[in-house]
Amino acid sequence: KSKVIATSTKICYGLPDRSDDLVDDIVEDMVENGQDGVLITDLEKVGEVAVRVAQAIYDSRRDIKATPSRGEIGELLDNCVLCGSCDKSCPNDLSIMKSMEEAKEGDFEKLANLYLDHCIGCGRCDEACPNDVHIMKVMEKAAEKKVKKEKYKIRVGRGPIRDTEIRDVGAPIVMGEIPGVIGMVGCSNYPDAPKGFREPLYRLAKEMAERNYIITLTGCHAMDVAFLENEDGETIYEEFSGAFNAGGVVNCGSCVSNAHISGVPIKIANIYARMGLRGNYKEIADYILNRVGAVGVSWGAMSQKAVSIANGFQRLGVPVILGPRSSLYGRSLMGRRDKPKLWKTRNKRKPEEGEYMIAPGPEHLVYYAESPEELLVKSAKLCIRPADTDAGRQIKLTHYIDLYNKYFNGEYPPDLYMFVRREHDVPIKYRTEVMKMLEEDPRWEKGKFGGGQPTILSEKEIEEGLGKVV
Ligand code: SF4
Ligand code: SF4
Repeated sequence: KSKVIATSTKICYGLPDRSDDLVDDIVEDMVENGQDGVLITDLEKVGEVAVRVAQAIYDSRRDIKATPSRGEIGELLDNCVLCGSCDKSCPNDLSIMKSMEEAKEGDFEKLANLYLDHCIGCGRCDEACPNDVHIMKVMEKAAEKKVKKEKYKIRVGRGPIRDTEIRDVGAPIVMGEIPGVIGMVGCSNYPDAPKGFREPLYRLAKEMAERNYIITLTGCHAMDVAFLENEDGETIYEEFSGAFNAGGVVNCGSCVSNAHISGVPIKIANIYARMGLRGNYKEIADYILNRVGAVGVSWGAMSQKAVSIANGFQRLGVPVILGPRSSLYGRSLMGRRDKPKLWKTRNKRKPEEGEYMIAPGPEHLVYYAESPEELLVKSAKLCIRPADTDAGRQIKLTHYIDLYNKYFNGEYPPDLYMFVRREHDVPIKYRTEVMKMLEEDPRWEKGKFGGGQPTILSEKEIEEGLGKVV
């Protein structure tokens, strides 16, 4: 029913190459002679052919509906024999068969809610059905009216973060004065939550933006935070600025715009620290791991693509927090904070001085949070970096302590002693109490390394030039 124009020889699906043919001939073949797909590598020609073909087939496509009619739905439902194969195949354990049974009796409510609130659109139920019932189509039809009424305000996806913005925030991020960048990306396989399954994401974005973290979002996460409003009826995009700066909430675009988020720490290394980009992955990842307070959150990661993206981030030195449902992937990268001897860096400026002990920050590279509260606290904690200045560490610890207090019974984090290098790291409002606690704690090691140019590159690598400060 649709016409396809491939524009790259890399993905052309074996379509006939019409790049050298006349536009009139291509249009005629596609409209009149049943040619459904072509490859055209000349982009000027693509533009003209696409517009002319779309105009020519508009009338014939007007009545085509993406969802089936009531009659077609009835036929599909008649084919359902309530075997339960769909239930067994669903990664979210949804009660599809029961909802189909009610739909057979004319009640589509359950099926609609399944689609709107829980289904992630993976299509496994369709594949599993022995009677070829297009279950997703039935669900879409059941939810059609509700979907049409769904309205929310979202700031348009803005694409990459500009170099000029990076110049403004590079220093405060590396020093720790902007406490961190939270990149919220990935699918919508969220666990249920008492105030709705989207609420934890909204709470994270809002609470951290209020605390001057920079929030960057893409895809489902960018859309889902827009469903909720504050007490003044504003969505998060109306409440916070869209600038890439402290307290900004930035929609970068669809989930393929994740590269714009991972581009941020790379640009910081390139623009702020003047590191070369070509063939320099190791040095840049080392820089990000040790100096750029950033964390990726994928609360509903379910696809292989989402998990690959998470791994792409952690390879770059950005720790990633995944939601509980993602734990089915079974791969985490947890730090051993119980082994303090593993947590060491060198100072790039003085590699000859050997290794220094540091706090375990970031503690993990891939971590599964089990609750929204843990997600919030861990997001603040995983932004801690060895390069934080005293002022920066104070700011980060303020948020870590505040959030821990708020969500875990008004107590101090039990691992606080690991992250305080010296008295000036402790937020002033907590200083007296925390210092008293630490002085009495035999586990506290004063004077851990911090600030400066921390690196985990070897002395040889630093000497040879990799990681050399220019
Ligand atoms: S797998 Fe198909 S036939 Fe079996 S219960 Fe589900 S929809 Fe019905
Ligand atoms: S498409 Fe939805 S209902 Fe079907 S298996 Fe996937 S999550 Fe379950």
